[in-house]
Amino acid sequence: MSPMHIRTRFAPSPTGFIHLGNLRSALYPWAFARHNKGDFILRIEDTDLERSTQEAVDVIIEGMAWLGLDIDEGPIYQMQRIDRYREVVQQLLDAGLAYHCYMSEDELNKLRDHQMANKEKPRYNGLWRPEPGKVLPAIPQDVLPVIRFKNPIGSSVVWDDAVKGIIEINNDELDDLVISRPDGTPTYNFCVVVDDLDMKITHVIRGDDHVNNTPRQINIMKALGGIQPIYAHLPTVLNDAGEKMSKRNGAMSVRDYQKAGYLPEAILNYLARLGWSHGDAEVFTKEQFVQWFDLDSLGRSPAQHNPEKLLWLNHQYIQNADPLILAQATKPFAHTLGIDTENGPDFTQVVALLKDRANTLIEIAEGARLFYLPAPTLSAEQIALNIPQAVIPALRDLIAALKTTEPLKEAYGAVFKQVLAQHQIKMPALAMPVRYALFATTQTPAIDSVLVVLGKEEVIERLSKVIL
Ligand code: GLU
Repeated sequence: MSPMHIRTRFAPSPTGFIHLGNLRSALYPWAFARHNKGDFILRIEDTDLERSTQEAVDVIIEGMAWLGLDIDEGPIYQMQRIDRYREVVQQLLDAGLAYHCYMSEDELNKLRDHQMANKEKPRYNGLWRPEPGKVLPAIPQDVLPVIRFKNPIGSSVVWDDAVKGIIEINNDELDDLVISRPDGTPTYNFCVVVDDLDMKITHVIRGDDHVNNTPRQINIMKALGGIQPIYAHLPTVLNDAGEKMSKRNGAMSVRDYQKAGYLPEAILNYLARLGWSHGDAEVFTKEQFVQWFDLDSLGRSPAQHNPEKLLWLNHQYIQNADPLILAQATKPFAHTLGIDTENGPDFTQVVALLKDRANTLIEIAEGARLFYLPAPTLSAEQIALNIPQAVIPALRDLIAALKTTEPLKEAYGAVFKQVLAQHQIKMPALAMPVRYALFATTQTPAIDSVLVVLGKEEVIERLSKVIL
């Protein structure tokens, strides 16, 4: 037998706010498909017309593209498949596997109240379910029927969940699910089954809030003659306070992270570890993730969002990034801060200088600002306060030496050493006044690197102004 061709899907409902936890549900089916050279499908479950928004669809699609979660098929919108769902409803009706139910809202409510009063689980009583020899009530004229699936009676539904192990649900716990509403629109659980079958999904990897839907979906799937896929139900992602993630308690959307200067590689790495592990690997590439990914290593308990860890990872990725690529990624942030990166020192050099200490692209951009400000105009008072008279001779010698020095970090370092020795002073005594003369602040990265980035001419010009 040829090995199974793996097909997975991410099937988000574009309702409201899309946080990181939502996108993690895209990551695992994507990685599983890629690992197995299979297909990954994006299906937008937009049948909840009141709550679905184009904005949420855009966030999902952009977020996936940003993280590099490429799709092989889709986005496929459920709203565009309504005719297909109706066709399958009809198939079930024709096969006697579904039936019209004329119980009115009012009757249903009464039934529920009665069951609740008797401490029974509220469920449909099968009044309109056809059975051999059973006489159904007369069809009322004023009720538009729903269509219910004829759930098997007796026996149970079993699946071996790739995360949770064997799960068995007795069919007696499941009543006859409504698959089509009075207005003829198909219901959620039904659409999912038709799609998973039509799309030949082999592995359903999704949040464990869907565990309860699974036995119903499996029953419908079997009735349609489909092969039960493998299910992997992922534990939830909780926020850092251990609550369900939501906008109300401060969850950030993928876009927010993008705007805050996070790198997509860091987010991907971070999300991968929220519920999956490979030994003690914490920092890994996307390729490694795909290579290592398997369903066996999915975690069984809820993962907890840890913003500090995400920031730490972002720092790792920034520190190890190629300065040229990092500079490209940082430029938009610099421009937002009003920095004209084309006018002044080479931006890539500035970024290379700042990246080891930055946690986000915004921090790099903020650090870069210094290098693009005009030369400071220092008042006599500022000079007197920050550049001691005693250091002026050393500054004079420094300027003279710089003039004949090669414009390299090591050479500048050597010049500093030489001047320090000559004047019997320590590094801060010289470096602080130099920093102040250059930028009107003493908070700068390492002075030799700063000199390289700012450029010798500019340095000499700025220093000369304070020794007059
Ligand atoms: N649309 C569902 C959700 O966003 C997912 C359904 C599924 O993966 O089967 O929670």
